[in-house]
Amino acid sequence: MRISEIRQRLREAGALPTHEFRVLRLWSQALPQTSGPRRIEDFLPQALRDALPAIEAQLDGLAHVISAHPGEDGGERLLVGLADGQSVESVLLPRADGLCISSQVGCAVGCVFCMTGRSGLVRQVGSAEMVAQVVLARTRRPVKKVVFMGMGEPAHNLDNVLEAIDLLGTAGNIGHKNLVLSTVGDPRVFERLPQQQVKPALALSLHTTKAQLRARLLPRAPAMTPEEIVERGEAYARATGYPIQYQWTLLEGINDGDDEVEGIVRLLEGKYGVLNLIPYNTVDGLDFKRPPAERAREMLRTLMRRRILTKLRQSAAQDVEGGCGQLRARAMGGGSV
Ligand code: SF4
Repeated sequence: MRISEIRQRLREAGALPTHEFRVLRLWSQALPQTSGPRRIEDFLPQALRDALPAIEAQLDGLAHVISAHPGEDGGERLLVGLADGQSVESVLLPRADGLCISSQVGCAVGCVFCMTGRSGLVRQVGSAEMVAQVVLARTRRPVKKVVFMGMGEPAHNLDNVLEAIDLLGTAGNIGHKNLVLSTVGDPRVFERLPQQQVKPALALSLHTTKAQLRARLLPRAPAMTPEEIVERGEAYARATGYPIQYQWTLLEGINDGDDEVEGIVRLLEGKYGVLNLIPYNTVDGLDFKRPPAERAREMLRTLMRRRILTKLRQSAAQDVEGGCGQLRARAMGGGSV
C-alpha cells in the first residue's frame, strides 16, 4: 500500500491538507490518538471522523511483529509480517535511536554473499509498509534515524522509497540527514534525489575498487564503475552537505588485500565521505568468510594513516542471524534458501 492511497482516502473523506498532515503525523510518529476524549476528533470534520476508524484499522494492519530477537549489543532484529503474509526484516540499531528498514521482499541485485539476494525479488514493499515498519519500531522505542539498508535495493523501488522518505522527513519528524538511502549505485538515484524536497543522506555499497570483481560480486547491479559511483556520490555530498557513507562488506581473500587498500586511497582521497568496513556475517550455505579481526583493524589503521576517514562497524544484533535476510529465510523454512 502506498502513502498516496492513504492521502487519497483521507481527501475523499473530506480531509483538508492540515487534517491529512495531522492524521499522518499521529500515525507515523506512533503518537497516542487518545487522551481522555479522542484528541484527533476535536479538530476533524464529521465525515472524516466517520471514515477514520476504517482507515486506522487499515494502517494498523499493514505490519506486525512476528518475532523479536534482541542482540547482545542492544540492537534488536524484528521479523515483520505484512498484510499478505509476506515478511521483511527491520533492525533497531544499538546507537543513535536508529532503525534499519526493508524496501523490498527479496532483492533482484543478487549479491553473491547475501541471503536476501538468493531469493530474487518476491515483491515491492509499499511506501506505507515502509512507514509502518517505523511505526512498529516506535511502539518499542524512540526512532530518530531511519536507514533504508535492510532487505532490497531501494533504487529498484524508488517511487515508494521516496514517498516514504518524504513522509518521514515531514510528518514523521525525522531530520533529513538522518534519513539514509542505501544503494549499490544506480543512475536513477543520482538523478532523482537532488530533485526531492526531502533529500536523504546517501550510503553507497562499494565493496571493491575493481570494476570486474564488482560485476561478479553484484551481478545485477547497474554497470557503473567504482569511479563513476564515487564521482556521482561526491557531487551529491557537496550539493547536500551530507557526507557519503561508502559501505564495504569485508570478505576474506576477496576484498581485504593491500591492493584494495591502495585502490581505496586512490578513489576516496579528498572525498567528502566515510568508509564503513563491515566484517561479513557468515550465511549458511555460502562459502564467504570474514577476515580475522586483526586484519580488519590493520586495514582501518592503514586507511586512517593515509587520511581516509574509516570506521570499522559490526552489523547490529549480529549474534541473532546477523546477515540481512536470514531471519526471513529461517521463517520460510530453513537457513539455506
Ligand atoms: Fe540486494 Fe542488498 Fe542483498 Fe545486494 S546486499 S542482494 S542489494 S539486499
